[in-house]
Amino acid sequence: MSKYRRGSFQLMKSINRSIILNMIREQGPISRAEIAKQSSLTPPTVGNIVKELIASNFVIETTQGASQGGRKPTLLEINADNFYIIGIDVGRFKMNFVVTNLFGELKDQTSFEIKEHPDEAEILSTMKEGIYHLLSPAKNDPEKFIGIGVGMHGIVDVTHGISLFAPSFQLYNIPIKEVLEEEFKMIVKVENDARTMTLGESWFGNGNDADNMVGVNVGHGIGAGVMINGRLFHGEDSIAGEIGHVTIDLSGPKCSCGNYGCLQTLANGPAIGERAKKELKTGKKSKILELVDHDLEKIDGEIVYLAALEGDDFSIELLSQTGRYLGIGLVNLIHTLNPKRIIIGGGVSKAGDFLMTGLEETIQARGLTQKAKETSIVLAKLGENGSAIGACVLILEEFFVRQ
Ligand SMILES: [Zn+2]
Repeated sequence: MSKYRRGSFQLMKSINRSIILNMIREQGPISRAEIAKQSSLTPPTVGNIVKELIASNFVIETTQGASQGGRKPTLLEINADNFYIIGIDVGRFKMNFVVTNLFGELKDQTSFEIKEHPDEAEILSTMKEGIYHLLSPAKNDPEKFIGIGVGMHGIVDVTHGISLFAPSFQLYNIPIKEVLEEEFKMIVKVENDARTMTLGESWFGNGNDADNMVGVNVGHGIGAGVMINGRLFHGEDSIAGEIGHVTIDLSGPKCSCGNYGCLQTLANGPAIGERAKKELKTGKKSKILELVDHDLEKIDGEIVYLAALEGDDFSIELLSQTGRYLGIGLVNLIHTLNPKRIIIGGGVSKAGDFLMTGLEETIQARGLTQKAKETSIVLAKLGENGSAIGACVLILEEFFVRQ
């Protein structure tokens, strides 16, 4: 299948090309002279590289932009809509697929359900199904696509693109990169979903001014993407950032990992639902009871959030309590890594405003120094698509090298 742009990737093997391309992406419209000045490359070198970038359709000339009177200078800008990337976020119950252009702007989107207890073949065939759907000429021009990024929950071998362990499916060693590259003949990159969320926020969201930051993905599990000096940190065996399993309460609920009182047993989506059930069984009053027709089994995190939106005091306090638990997890992060910013994303972040008060109180109360207390905590800008858009950045990173 040579219809996809395999050659595009080869073109970017030159670091100077990638640096110039990124300069045009970040600063365009920009002149050749300005690029030469900032990159310390000679004007003829810049001229040659720009000629290649124009020939390959990555860059176009424009006369838009600053003019000091007289003839408008010819400037360069990214031909953003000429190239598309697919990003996939593999959650517990569904896969979210997005298509972005070179600016990370959303161009198309779909999602596919994942059935209960899927096996490896089912996971891979759902991925293929979603990708084929977006590549169908009726939806998008297949020739525009240059790569596929995958954000997978659990532990990922980034080098080989293998999902080493996906706890929600209890599956090991899924060879995602190998299978998708064979099928679609384009570059495929795989990374942990909290890390792709962090990458997305770093490029296009609330993290682009912070070289040291942590993105915390709060959904069915809790994971963190740790960015140090502008680069994602994986640790020795890709386990770095598994903050869902730091112990918050020695005598807390049992976690899926076998330990007790892990952060995610107290602050993830299911934990919010479980706590609500437990307390309502003791006879507490709440709007939740109406919302579920007094069937406590129907309660989940989402219901608690909906009740909070309707002003239910019980639910608001429960989410605030969740924020305090999350806050303890974040204080541990602050004292371990001292990030400039922590960005909260994932499904539970929808309830961000209800979580924030408890969370900030905890950091105020427990931060070691004034600076620690002042660590910026914000909600993710890219929202529910954060991990999928961040998965697209895995491919963008191959083309645009930030200096
Ligand atoms: Zn655990």
